[in-house]
Amino acid sequence: MADTGVQARKSAVWLLDQITGDAPRLMSELLAGGALDKLPPEDRARAQRLAMETLRGMERADRLLQKHLKKYPPLTVRNVLRLGTVELCQGGAAHGVVNAMVTLVSQHRKLGHLKGLVNAVLRKIAAQGPEAWEVLRAPRLPKWLRGPLVAAWGPEAMVAMEQAHFAGAPLDLTAKGDAAALAEAVGGVLLPTGSVRLEQAGQVSALPGYDAGDWWVQDAAAALPVRMLAPMKGEKVLDLCAAPGGKTLQMAAAGAEVTAVDTSEGRMARVRENLKRTGLKADLKVTDARAVDGLYDAILLDAPCSATGTIRRHPDLPFAKNGDEFGALIGLQTELLDHAWTLLKPGGRMVFCTCSLLPDEGEVQVDEALVRHSDMTVEAVDLPGVDPAWRSEEGGLRLRPDYWADRGGMDGFYIAVLRKAG
Ligand code: SAM
Repeated sequence: MADTGVQARKSAVWLLDQITGDAPRLMSELLAGGALDKLPPEDRARAQRLAMETLRGMERADRLLQKHLKKYPPLTVRNVLRLGTVELCQGGAAHGVVNAMVTLVSQHRKLGHLKGLVNAVLRKIAAQGPEAWEVLRAPRLPKWLRGPLVAAWGPEAMVAMEQAHFAGAPLDLTAKGDAAALAEAVGGVLLPTGSVRLEQAGQVSALPGYDAGDWWVQDAAAALPVRMLAPMKGEKVLDLCAAPGGKTLQMAAAGAEVTAVDTSEGRMARVRENLKRTGLKADLKVTDARAVDGLYDAILLDAPCSATGTIRRHPDLPFAKNGDEFGALIGLQTELLDHAWTLLKPGGRMVFCTCSLLPDEGEVQVDEALVRHSDMTVEAVDLPGVDPAWRSEEGGLRLRPDYWADRGGMDGFYIAVLRKAG
């Protein structure tokens, strides 16, 4: 049978069912559990891409679909319709998309009788054309997350961030050596902060220099904490919460003696792979960061957090989470910060960072740490490409997905350099 893309689409709908169902799961958990392992690599990549595009455009798809539905069909059929709508409105050929979706439903043991509905509704969506899609607003975040973010950054910034989430993210690389030479080799753009950006990623492992370990994938914002820590050759540096290891690689590439710590053996395996591919060295310890001892010249604490700064890349997050665990994460960040401070030599520096948009996981953490630790100050760091307007009141750096809008955005991050009195 000719491949009509049904298998990839079927898997995309399965992912959507899990992410938007009664017991929502994150895409990363589903993939780590081997959900798509039986698919050929191309179908696997396509299924993920289709599911992510559908999650990004879900609100728009639902707005268009509701005009053609008298009542909501079962979740799987809703997700087939959402996927079909997103594909049609993003330029998919009407005949191919509608046929694939009808085939998908007709193959379903219990939902086959709804193939006529899918056919009729998607034909109407196709007839409307992408114009009906393009005039709709950028999809909003759910209330549980939108509320605190509007309170923190205001309604206009919220809309700009939602537009950035909808636009998705380019592929950013960090060079082990010369970034300008890397930009040339991969046909990318050298960003003012030193990362290399590619608009169209394609298959990452097929890019020049992958096997040689000349670079690694890392968002431009995620590359800044280590640039701000500025580890030097021979310095004894501790990387707490290290996996999958983008920042470990940066510090090792700078010639520092890196000890990298993470609680997760599975995630630490990725640090090991990344070190092997790039030919860099670090001492790896699978343990809780709060059990680490010793004294270090410099420390990086990239604490576990809500990851709300990475929604461009992980559009499943607003669907699969509800904010329940954020309180516990904030408590853990405080404990990690306080323990890490005991491991820093007098006169040393520590970078505290989170890929979060919530001030409770950034600005507030540092404000409160300054009250608890009389030997702590925040150090302002000037880096090429960093806009002074990104500086926050207590001296840290607030990065948001709507910054660099004309360049393709950046992940949301909070970063502060904390200096210990000598
Ligand atoms: N620094 C990493 C990088 O650049 O690739 C990303 C780190 S990620 C934000 C947070 C990490 O913290 C996860 O890998 C998680 O397993 C780890 N983690 C969570 N709780 C921890 C703890 N108590 N001690 C050490 N690591 C922990």
